[in-house]
Amino acid sequence: MKLFEKLKKANTLRIVFFGIATVAVVALTLLNVYSLYELRNSSIESATDVKKLQIEEFANSIQYQFYNSVWDIRKLDMNTVKTGWQNNQNLPDSFTQILQTVSKDPLYSNIHFIHKNNDGCIDPAYPVYRFDAAQDRFVTIDEAPDLVCDGFGISKSRARAIVDDYRFNTRTTFDSHRSMTIALVDLTDNSVVGHLNLLIDKDYLLNDYIAEEMAKSFGDADESGIVVWLRDWIQDDILLSSDPDYTYNRDEYPIDIRQRFSDSLDDWNIHATILESPTIAASDASLTRNLIVLGVAVFVLFGALIFIFINAQRERELAERQAGFLANITHELKTPLAVMQAAGENLADGRVTEGKRLKSYGDHIYNESVRLKRMIEKLLDAAKVDSGQLSTQQAPHFLQELTAEFVEANRGYIEDQGFTFNFTHDKNLPLVMVDADHIETTLNNLVENAMKYSRDEKEISVKVEKKGGYVAISVSDKGTGIPKNSLRYIFDKFYRVEDSLTAKTKGHGLGLSIVKNMVELNGGTINVKSDYGKGSTFIVKFPTLMTSDPNIDQPASSSTNDALTKEKVGPYVQ
Ligand code: ADP
Repeated sequence: MKLFEKLKKANTLRIVFFGIATVAVVALTLLNVYSLYELRNSSIESATDVKKLQIEEFANSIQYQFYNSVWDIRKLDMNTVKTGWQNNQNLPDSFTQILQTVSKDPLYSNIHFIHKNNDGCIDPAYPVYRFDAAQDRFVTIDEAPDLVCDGFGISKSRARAIVDDYRFNTRTTFDSHRSMTIALVDLTDNSVVGHLNLLIDKDYLLNDYIAEEMAKSFGDADESGIVVWLRDWIQDDILLSSDPDYTYNRDEYPIDIRQRFSDSLDDWNIHATILESPTIAASDASLTRNLIVLGVAVFVLFGALIFIFINAQRERELAERQAGFLANITHELKTPLAVMQAAGENLADGRVTEGKRLKSYGDHIYNESVRLKRMIEKLLDAAKVDSGQLSTQQAPHFLQELTAEFVEANRGYIEDQGFTFNFTHDKNLPLVMVDADHIETTLNNLVENAMKYSRDEKEISVKVEKKGGYVAISVSDKGTGIPKNSLRYIFDKFYRVEDSLTAKTKGHGLGLSIVKNMVELNGGTINVKSDYGKGSTFIVKFPTLMTSDPNIDQPASSSTNDALTKEKVGPYVQ
């Protein structure tokens, strides 16, 4: 609210600059937060991409495994195979060598050959053959296993679909994870020779081969940041898991990556969940760090902006007050001079001879010169404070004695102005280390203000008492009081409360700033309590002196018991 009031007081240009700076800071902050989020997301995305690629490669490598032992079959001339088969199964060596290799491949449990003309797997004219590795040849079997017939059926119908347009000498089809059948194609006449069926050992495939590959590729989920499951999606069954500590549960571990096998194993697929990987955790941590740094930077920047703004505002107000002060003070310095000049002229002319009038003229000159002197003293004090030349001559004093001297010297004048003037003090107060002149100036200013800002209830109380480790002088009045929101400014140079009550009094806002400087120079503090419309109390506190201090023999004020003379204190500036 206060900030808003300050903003309201500021000139438009400053508000515009402040607005632009604020918008710039906010925009920069938002931009930074946005880029940080983008950076985090892209690093998460790229981590996910890497995992996707890894899973794709894993699925491919499993598929390639089916072709591993049969790879060389593509190099065979199927016309030779066909002729050999027709010629009493006299198969080329290159073919039987491949069959020997395949029979040693643990992935396959049996190799069967079925002639292309075989009908429905039970055709007596074209029997089903099984490769016997020991005899290195195919042997006829009475009844073909169902799985062989299934694979043959799929291969035969697929091969038939591409009549006369074979590009390769083999055409491979899968009966999911059960068998792989290779149609052997004679490219010389574009005809199928027969179907070579390889039964897949599911147990080996799952528990030896894929399980091992999975462990190799993904292993401990906490390290790799990913859990991979092999799932039979038709049976809705989890066949394998890369880390048994993680149970397949989509609520707990949402599936981030799904991967199918492109031509084999078509009733299985891979599901994977990405855990809080070290990369993501690191990018999250860096995001948090960056946000904190950014937050602090924005906070400091805003703080600095507001500080600069308020400072500029204060300086402007000070400059305005200073300008107003110069105009006033010139006027006020001239007034007593003019009075003195006129009175002096009259006296010098010898026109005034009557005793009563002579005294009145003398009083005029005296009072005005005292007023002038006090004003000049105040100005000099202010100048000294400004230039840092204010120095103290501290000595041990009893504050109640200094105050009593002040009261004694000024009571008459104050009471003449219609005030009730109370002075009380505690007994046996300790010594304090202060400059007596500064205490006098302080009391002068505080009592002068108490008088100036009193209205109907003319009562001033001065009290000296012990407060903890301090001796305090308080000056109270029952005057105008000070508005709450002005309290913290009244010690500022040239500051005057802007209200109708203060406007009726003369002043320049110098007294309290001088007092504060003097009090602080003497190691004290000044505070004010005020009830607006009811009165104010100014409290000046100085730390007590340890009387056991060997450097201190005698209090300075008790040795200089001289009451202040009229010249020394004089009446108050009105
Ligand atoms: P001034 O010459 O205006 O009195 P000061 O620095 O002594 O300058 O005081 C600053 C302002 O504090 C005054 O203008 C007045 O508004 C307020 N003030 C100071 N003393 C009192 C008081 N005893 N009662 C009410 N207001 C006071």
